[in-house]
Order: sequence, then structure tokens, then C-alpha cells
Amino acid sequence: MHSPLPYRGRFAPTPSGPLHLGSLLTALASYLQARSAGGVWLLRIDDLDAERCRAEFVDAIQRQLEAHQLHWDEPPRLQSRHAAEYEPAFGRLQAQGLLFPCACTRAQLARDSLPGVDGPVYAGTCRERPPPAERPAWRLRAADGELRLDDAWQGDLRRRLGTDIGDFVVRRADGGIGYQLACVVDEAAQGTTEVVRGADLIGSSFRQMHLQARLGLPMPAYRHLPVLLDGCGRKLSKQNHAQPLVPAAAGDNLLHCLDLLGQAPPALLRGAPPPEVMQWAQAHWNASRVPTGPHLQPGG
Ligand SMILES: [Zn+2]
Repeated sequence: MHSPLPYRGRFAPTPSGPLHLGSLLTALASYLQARSAGGVWLLRIDDLDAERCRAEFVDAIQRQLEAHQLHWDEPPRLQSRHAAEYEPAFGRLQAQGLLFPCACTRAQLARDSLPGVDGPVYAGTCRERPPPAERPAWRLRAADGELRLDDAWQGDLRRRLGTDIGDFVVRRADGGIGYQLACVVDEAAQGTTEVVRGADLIGSSFRQMHLQARLGLPMPAYRHLPVLLDGCGRKLSKQNHAQPLVPAAAGDNLLHCLDLLGQAPPALLRGAPPPEVMQWAQAHWNASRVPTGPHLQPGG
């Protein structure tokens, strides 16, 4: 028997906009999980997509987290500064003969992809085609088999590699490393022991578990929060114009999230300063009270 690794959790926003209530919900749950385990909480900035990401949002996100008393323990890790670390992982997949070039256009993918439980699944179009002349994307060939994830909040999740996940991109056509591959290298570099994130990322978690197995990397535990919906039943997101978090309302924002997370903060905390709210939250965090299932209704 060896003792379990010390808990290391992380929050990994994409700096394509400021944080909103949905992102605070994830950050807070992951922070409280880490603190209640006496562990470390880290910040990672998923800024590989240069078209969508902006430096001003990296700063804004850090200010928003600090205003909400969510303090990270080590210097933030910006993916864009670690590009060279992703190449050896790509090389190891290639050396195993697991990759093939894909020249499909966006229109072809939209036409050919198959419906899957987590979104469109690549149809395998380029698997047996000779390598195209132009710069291709690279995909990981999906093998047979099933992956299983015992999720504390979503229950027993299973995905078939071939039909539910399919061949997914590990290097984009523009030469940049794929999001899934970058994330598993980051989790290993940061020593993440548990990933807490939204249920909309369950498909990503399975892709990352598959990559970890192929690369022989340690596999963190995963738990997925129900996704916060807006008043129209859509995921609260930057695309749907969710309101940015206002630091001056940090105490109320935290209480709202604690309510949504089933923690039932006492009424006397209304109007309390954020450090007091967080002190209560850390002392009373109970992961088993978090609602289960894929969605959360607002105003709860
Ligand atoms: Zn293709």
C-alpha cells in the first residue's frame, strides 16, 4: 500500500472573455474540493487558440478570481508559453503509429461527421487515404474498447472509443497542438490529482483519459458539475452573452454559487464581505450535497 498523492486541483479558463457566473461555479467547486482535502489549487490559462484569446482577459480573470477570494498557490501556467513541451507527446503518439493526417475541410466535417453522445464524431474519412499534399491536421486513431468513468456527480459514465469518441485531432491544420493533447501534458506537469469541471466537458475528459493511457501519463480523477443554464435553457456562456462577474458583488456571487452547489449558506451571510463567505464555505463544503445530473436551473 502506498499513501495517496497530496490533492492538487486546478481551474483552467480560456481567456476569450471575462468570467461569468457559470465559470465562477466551476472555479469555486474546484477550489473548495482542493481546500477541503488540505490540497493545492492551481490556475492554468488555456490560451492556445490565439484567435479567441486576449492578454487583457488573462489579467481580468485573475483580478476576478482574487476579488472572489479564490487564490492560487503557484504561478499560473499559460499554455502558450509551453508549446515546446507538447511536441514530445505528439512524437510519442506518432512513433506508436497511432496518428494519421486528415485533410477534411470544415464543410466536409460538418457533412460527414456522425452524431455522438458528446457531439459530432469524426467519420474516419481520411484513415485509409494517402497523405494529402497540403498541411494536414493529425488525428489519433480510435481503437476498439470502452472507457469508464465513475463520476461522483454524474454517476457511472461509459464511452465506446470507436463510436462515441472517434479519431480526434491532436495537431491542428495550422500546426498548433490540439487542445486535448495540450491538456494531458499540462495535467501531468501540474501534478493534477482531480479535475473538477462542467458536464459539458465529459467528452473532453474521455479523450484525455484515452491520451493518458496511450502516453503512460498519470490519470487524475474527474468529476463533472451540472452545467448552469440561462433563463432560456441554454448553457450560460460567453457566446450567449452571460454577464461578466462584477468584483463589487463578489460576496453575493459566491453566495449564489454556494446555493446552486447545494451548500445552503445561512441567511446571516447576506451582505457579508467575501473573506467571511469563503471562510464559511471552506468550513462547511460538502461535495455530496452538490446536485447531480447534467443541468442546473438558474435562480436556485
Ligand atoms: Zn479527414
